[in-house]
Amino acid sequence: MMQQLVPHVEQLDAHCWRMHHQGFSMNSGLIVGEERAAVIDTGSGPREAAGLYAAIRRITHLPLLVVNTHAHGDHVFGNKYFAAHDVEDFHATAAAAEHLRGHGDAERQLVRFLEPEMALRQGPYSGIVVPSGIVADSGEVLELGGVNMELFGLGSGHTTGDLLVRCGRILFTGDLVEEGGPPNFEDADPALWADLLGRLGEQCGRDTVIVPGHGNVVDVDFVRRQHREMLAAIREGKQIVASWPAGSFDPTAYQLELLPYGPEQSTIFLQRLSELLP
Ligand SMILES: [Zn+2]
Repeated sequence: MMQQLVPHVEQLDAHCWRMHHQGFSMNSGLIVGEERAAVIDTGSGPREAAGLYAAIRRITHLPLLVVNTHAHGDHVFGNKYFAAHDVEDFHATAAAAEHLRGHGDAERQLVRFLEPEMALRQGPYSGIVVPSGIVADSGEVLELGGVNMELFGLGSGHTTGDLLVRCGRILFTGDLVEEGGPPNFEDADPALWADLLGRLGEQCGRDTVIVPGHGNVVDVDFVRRQHREMLAAIREGKQIVASWPAGSFDPTAYQLELLPYGPEQSTIFLQRLSELLP
């Protein structure tokens, strides 16, 4: 039998739960109304999805819908398990659906140690489910029965198709906010992301409970710090890129140390910055 990876479950208010997966420290969410419940991000494959589904069924037996905050494998590769358990309603941005359609198969290798069935396309739950419920650019409100959840984008950031989910004072941000590890710049435009974080920091109140894509729950001060840090990194990064001969990519160990994201993400950060600078 396939192994189940059981998430850590934390109730955040009367209707909202955070379900924290150990593998990539990724956060799924659960919002429960009187008629149906919403699952935010399904895990990195059938093992995490099976554990997540079991944890959800200990809380509610209502019909489920799924929201994907963006298209990265650790957030969407559990979709097939939910589809095989009577979930038909999958929501994401148009950009996320397009990314998943185009790059989903290539991302399977990223989860191979945690989710071998997903990497090897084995078993009934290893397919890729691309959401067909495309969220309007202006956002959408989904009614769960006595509880409303708001889906909205704030423009390009971690990817070109990031979705945020708000229910009362609980805000699920996907990987636009990361706790416990550096932001991931693989598909990001750093300047647009920093700009987005500035607007997000202004929108959040003192009492907003922010569930990041990875790691522990944070508050608005954390978002504002991540914003300031990214602005400073962009200033530093632009100078570093400008110091190289035109067209070259050659960060030194010293230059990487000037950035706050560790050698791997700082390298990717500089790469994205040099590709996207005018
Ligand atoms: Zn991501």
